[in-house]
Amino acid sequence: MSCNCTTTELEGGRVKYSDYYSEIQPTWCSGCGDYAIMAALKRSLVELDIAPSEVVLCFDVGCNSNMNDKLGGYRVHTLHGRVLPFAAGAKISHPKLKVIAFAGDGATYSEGLNHFINSLKSNYPITFFVHNNGNYGLTTGQASATTPQNTKRTANPDGPTSMTLNPLELALSIDPAFVGRSTSADIGSLIKIMKQAISFQDEGFAYVDILQACPTYNRELTHEMLLKRSKNVEDFPDYNPNNLAAARAFVQSTGMEIANGVIYKNPNLVSYLKKLVYRKKSWSDTTLREEVKKYSISDYLNSLS
Ligand code: SF4
Ligand code: MG
Repeated sequence: MSCNCTTTELEGGRVKYSDYYSEIQPTWCSGCGDYAIMAALKRSLVELDIAPSEVVLCFDVGCNSNMNDKLGGYRVHTLHGRVLPFAAGAKISHPKLKVIAFAGDGATYSEGLNHFINSLKSNYPITFFVHNNGNYGLTTGQASATTPQNTKRTANPDGPTSMTLNPLELALSIDPAFVGRSTSADIGSLIKIMKQAISFQDEGFAYVDILQACPTYNRELTHEMLLKRSKNVEDFPDYNPNNLAAARAFVQSTGMEIANGVIYKNPNLVSYLKKLVYRKKSWSDTTLREEVKKYSISDYLNSLS
């Protein structure tokens, strides 16, 4: 069996890049940003020394989530727009596992918008990567919630019929735990922010919107444009990612540029699991399955008759 990995094995690490190998090859279009995102994810997991058996990779529906069988490990392909409740349930029932969810802009900012908002509000301790390519790619290019006004899509030749959503502004309006932005054009920055978001997850909901090139149906969002327009928070020496007002101002001031980096981290928010005071032990010591008392529904029903 040969490995299709493009990076060398990390010397001395317990986990290797090839541990995430799958014999199933990607079918994305040539130049699709999903290749970069999958490579960055594998590299991030290896550099964090997280084995495939220690992480649950939860996928929605879309081009992005066709990644589900291109990786080794525990992977679940869920329903359109519904990946977040599944991922939250997986983490709540087994807190020792890392749980990472993936979805596109269509699933996250339209079909699953309620789940996105509730995950931000509830502060579920999971990591969420959104592949935001500004259209529904799998179904051949309908306008999505993040398609800019006055731009055309295959199935919307007159442009979007509804207003464009800025997902970072929406997320920041809830004073969330962790908000990041990256692009498929800059794999080094993407690995850096992925590692931060995965490491953060036990503190709460770590959300990263990844602007992803879709050369087939979104000709405006090219890798060249993403690199040229990125406005990195790290280039501003006084930028404080713990300051919500500064984060909101940064996101709103970008104009035609693209906010990039760890934009906000809430230093005070308590994660959902740490609020579950009825859990018998420290939330990180036991699984829900270990805590639930065995109960005979037959005995209960008999007691009623
Ligand atoms: Fe990638 Fe777009 Fe092709 Fe889907 S349609 S595989 S998002 S380039
Ligand atoms: Mg999309």
